[in-house]
Amino acid sequence: MMRTPHGDIPTPVFAPVGTQATVKTLTPDELVTIGATLILANTYHLYLRPGADTIARLGDLHGFMGWPGPILTDSGGFQVFSLEGLRRVSEEGVVFRSHIDGSEHFFSPEKAVEIQEKLGADIIMVLDECPDPMDYDYNKSALERTHRWAERCLRAHTRADQALFGIVQGGVFPDLRGKSAEFLTSLGFPGYGIGGLSVGEPKDKTWEMLDVTVPLLPTHAPRYLMGVGSPEDLFEGVERGVDLFDSVLPTRLARNGGVFTSRGRINLRKAKFADDPAPIEEGCDCYTCRRFSRAYLRHLLKAGEILGLRLNTIHNLHFLVELMGRIRAAITEGSFAALKTDFLSRYVPAANDEDQRIKHLARRRGKPKRKGNA
Ligand SMILES: [Zn+2]
Repeated sequence: MMRTPHGDIPTPVFAPVGTQATVKTLTPDELVTIGATLILANTYHLYLRPGADTIARLGDLHGFMGWPGPILTDSGGFQVFSLEGLRRVSEEGVVFRSHIDGSEHFFSPEKAVEIQEKLGADIIMVLDECPDPMDYDYNKSALERTHRWAERCLRAHTRADQALFGIVQGGVFPDLRGKSAEFLTSLGFPGYGIGGLSVGEPKDKTWEMLDVTVPLLPTHAPRYLMGVGSPEDLFEGVERGVDLFDSVLPTRLARNGGVFTSRGRINLRKAKFADDPAPIEEGCDCYTCRRFSRAYLRHLLKAGEILGLRLNTIHNLHFLVELMGRIRAAITEGSFAALKTDFLSRYVPAANDEDQRIKHLARRRGKPKRKGNA
């Protein structure tokens, strides 16, 4: 359980992503019905448009977007470092160009904190440098700067009602991950992000890095695995002690016709669903599955109707939020291992390269990527 000024968050938790201060296609009331307790918003995007001062004047993010519950903002570091060829990094900070109009901007650790204080989320993140996880030399040099930036973020942070989390970096290298976890722990953050994973590295490396990192973090502080959110990955992360996950995967997949079932993902655009009277998932009690057939949802997608995107999004978020509820209950009952075995005996994970393809498509549309988020 995490306590925030805008409500308690039962953990482990999956947080839907609302990049532009909206979880795409859904209203806050629909998110409440789904059972979401924490949502993410994106500092980089909101700083560029509509601007942090505008949001601060309009009741901070909670008032602006009409979401009364807990919110987390990332620092914008991941977006800025995903802008290919658009940045200059120095000790002071990072210069980048807006993907909207090409204008030049500067983020320092202090600026990232200042913007997030204006946005007013309950949980905010330090500015970190996000190198290619497979490049040892880059990770080694970036890590020391990221640590100095973490100290500067702590010094700049003034709002006691916001929890500022540190972010462990270090790529796929156990020595760097260990160093990062130990250093950040010595600064005494109230929570820790584990960044730079799920960005294209092999899955066994992701879990190996968690195995190295999590035991070095304090047990009382939440651990946040940034940008991870497929059902099978939630089990792997929870098993290793992760409390908080976020990913655009369920919402982005939904808009592409991909929906979760207990047997794995299906794509409703496929012709075989044209006459399928069944709901996406038999027994699912989400609004979509209670009312609509796969055939109807496929029709909406093929016809380019907005309702199709909304209904698929409702199902996918419900699927992950409900799964997390079952995981929490299983942990309480001491039956997590049995639930994991049972779930994974039926669920066929999608190939990792499919997720990479989705991220790649998002980048080609000119959007910065964010560990499976944008
Ligand atoms: Zn459903």
